Amino acid sequence: MAHDVIVIGGGPAGLSAAVNVRARGRSVLVVSNPLEENPLWRAEKVDNYLGLPGMSGAELLKTLRAHAEQAGAEFREGRVLNAVAMETDWFVSIGSDMENAKAVVLAGGVARAKKFPGEAEYLGKGVSYCATCDGMLYRKKPVAVVGYSDSAKKEAEFLTSIGCTVTYFDRPKTCEIIGGAKAERVVCDGQAADVACVFLLRPALAPTDMFPGIEVENGYVKVDRAMATSLPGVFAAGDCTGGPLQVSKAAGEGLVAGQSAAKYVADLARKK
Ligand SMILES: Cc1cc2nc3c(=O)[nH]c(=O)nc-3n(C[C@H](O)[C@H](O)[C@H](O)COP(=O)(O)OP(=O)(O)OC[C@H]3O[C@@H](n4cnc5c(N)ncnc54)[C@H](O)[C@@H]3O)c2cc1C
Repeated sequence: MAHDVIVIGGGPAGLSAAVNVRARGRSVLVVSNPLEENPLWRAEKVDNYLGLPGMSGAELLKTLRAHAEQAGAEFREGRVLNAVAMETDWFVSIGSDMENAKAVVLAGGVARAKKFPGEAEYLGKGVSYCATCDGMLYRKKPVAVVGYSDSAKKEAEFLTSIGCTVTYFDRPKTCEIIGGAKAERVVCDGQAADVACVFLLRPALAPTDMFPGIEVENGYVKVDRAMATSLPGVFAAGDCTGGPLQVSKAAGEGLVAGQSAAKYVADLARKK
């Protein structure tokens, strides 16, 4: 089903954007990893969010999420891999599925991990970011999963279920991917495995991987005061646009990005 706006990321920025898209009468789908995998979930206490002092990160996230649900936002659990523009729509791939909307709000937080040596070189040649999309290509073969969440463990189980022999690396600090024309071996924290494919399952992807060509500055998505990025119909909010990396700033930017996305959709409809 087509939506007016897709929000990528269900943290404070994305939830605030969703509430404010709904406040403008537009439909919104929030696509995100599970709430428990949000980095804020681990915060023992958040004391500087206005009006709600003393909550744990988990309580605050559940409160924000309930607000967005009440406002009528739709939710879908999953990891967005990339987005492409076709005519007036953005098509967003979630695992092996697709959703589309007129506008997108990118609110994926900070993608903390740097690329591993060999990762960019072998992407599509024995390096993949999605087990459920590419797993079948490596059926019954030895593969490695480099995982950082419970969702990654589920993807590894899927690979086992289709006959792959899986070496699982749990949150390694360092990895290197080595090969010839294709990836052949991965070494993580000194442990090596010979593989046909390495699945790198990080919870957050770099904005430039999801949106090729999006302008970044010092590693953060470049936005104007309307939270518009360099790509038409794509807005960004929260930690992904830079510091201070704090909940209040994320919620405030989410408001602006949500309103801007809703206005963009309304303007498109008027032009028709
Ligand atoms: C331990 C800890 C304690 C903190 N304490 C405080 C505090 O006391 N006060 C304060 O103001 N701030 C605090 N922060 C910072 C605060 O958590 C962030 O500033 C805030 O969560 C940013 O909101 P956001 O919505 O931009 O990003 P996030 O909250 O990071 O949300 C982004 C969400 O998008 C998901 N996502 C990313 N990429 C994709 C993708 N490709 N597909 C699907 N989903 C995706 C992520 O998994 C994540 O769930 C703390 C952070 C941590 C880690």
